[in-house]
Amino acid sequence: MHLFSWVDNRTLIVCQCIMAAVFSLVLFCIWRLYPQLRGVGSMAIGFSLGIPTAALFAARGHIPNFLSIVVANFFIFLLYVFLYRGVLLFCQSRGYMPALLTLAGVSLVVLTYYSEVQHNIIPRIFVISLTVGVARALMAYEIYKRSAGQMHMILFSITLGLFSASTLIKALLVPLQGSPDSFLTNDPIQSTQLLSGILFVCVDGMFYLTMLIREVTSTIEHQAQLDFLTGTLNRRGIEEALIVEIARTRRSQRPIAVLLIDIDHFKSINDIQGHAAGDEALRLVSRSIASVLRIYDTLGRFGGDEFLLVLPETTGEPAMMIAERIREALISMSATARIPPMTLSIGVTFFERNEEPIDIIGRADAALYEAKRAGRNCSRLQPPPDLGNPGPHPHVALPRATLLSRVTSRRRTRNTTL
Ligand code: GH3
Ligand code: MG
Repeated sequence: MHLFSWVDNRTLIVCQCIMAAVFSLVLFCIWRLYPQLRGVGSMAIGFSLGIPTAALFAARGHIPNFLSIVVANFFIFLLYVFLYRGVLLFCQSRGYMPALLTLAGVSLVVLTYYSEVQHNIIPRIFVISLTVGVARALMAYEIYKRSAGQMHMILFSITLGLFSASTLIKALLVPLQGSPDSFLTNDPIQSTQLLSGILFVCVDGMFYLTMLIREVTSTIEHQAQLDFLTGTLNRRGIEEALIVEIARTRRSQRPIAVLLIDIDHFKSINDIQGHAAGDEALRLVSRSIASVLRIYDTLGRFGGDEFLLVLPETTGEPAMMIAERIREALISMSATARIPPMTLSIGVTFFERNEEPIDIIGRADAALYEAKRAGRNCSRLQPPPDLGNPGPHPHVALPRATLLSRVTSRRRTRNTTL
């Protein structure tokens, strides 16, 4: 009698088969729903290969040994190759696929020899455990590299590492300790091994699902912050980017400039040339602005024909120079486009202290209002209040419940004032 004497090894193998089938089904569904998700197809194929593998193992004694030993282990190697491929695609890494394929090929030759020519279970277990252990270690390494501090990825990598270590220890111990003649023999080592196999399928499958769900959510989150028309950030995205930059400024005490850019008489483009021409004009303006930006600047469509630009580590003067460059870029890009010449009015401000986004945007808006009043097609700067600015222009002293309500009010006010 031992701890697992009540366990039937064949039942454990069938359990592994069922678990692999469930996870492969779920992964195939995810693949169908999100074909653009990297690696999910390979992972689904990997898990589905667990089904014939387990079936061939469970049939040991009832089918030729060649099928139950050589073919079944060939499927195991293939399963790990696909799982590793899935991880590499997901992590966008080249990895060590040729090394794993070579190891699996050599192991298969050794396995076939010790099954078909000379019957010996020890070298067979050694090569199988070695290949599986190395594959698990390679997956753990890639996932750790890609984790970037994400807890679920780090945990996945550690778990895979532990599974890998236990398999490699088995590979090393088997030549020293020996093994029963068949893994279907009911002894504690075989049963523990099969139970850990079930655990591996569960843990591996659950972590893959977590990883994929996280990827899907972050893709959706990213898309929810993009402006469909221009491809820049939308209102939500640019406001969040501004909040992040403000938080960074609190730590670094570095200045940030904010530009509010509005197309002059945009309504007339819509009215005269139609809405499609208006859309094309918006795309052209966003391209012109983007053409003068640095990699760490952030652009978003704030609403209608207004764009908000966040320039880290920039004060008033350089921000005004960038505003002028944007206006020049639009003039030169309009010359080659089939759109009548457009001009921009730009409100510029900057800050170095802890300020609320609403105050910063309010100041940029006041500067934009000045530019419009000065006849449009120009830029105006409003420095922070402690640098000689008398404070927000009266027309922005409006309800401040949310950015949205303020800008809506501002727009109403501007339309009636000008
Ligand atoms: P101003 O110089 O004072 O800015 O005059 P304007 O004509 O540009 O006035 P305003 O900025 O208020 O006009 C914005 C117009 O932008 C009104 C709206 O019909 C149009 N608009 C808003 N969103 C879109 C869009 O997605 N596509 C198109 N084609 N037009 C849009
Ligand atoms: Mg306008």
